[in-house]
Amino acid sequence: MPQQASDSEHRTTTTERGSFAHARCTCGWVGPARRSRDKARVDASAHESSG
Ligand SMILES: [Zn+2]
Repeated sequence: MPQQASDSEHRTTTTERGSFAHARCTCGWVGPARRSRDKARVDASAHESSG
């Protein structure tokens, strides 16, 4: 059944800042700055799966 978005939902995005990228999540989590967006994506998926 459909559910309203809640604080238990984790939707991650990656943000680039200069030569660094980091993941962030709707729950407020922010990943460490990475030199590659691929690494930031790995952080994001690890966070989602650990959530
Ligand atoms: Zn999260």
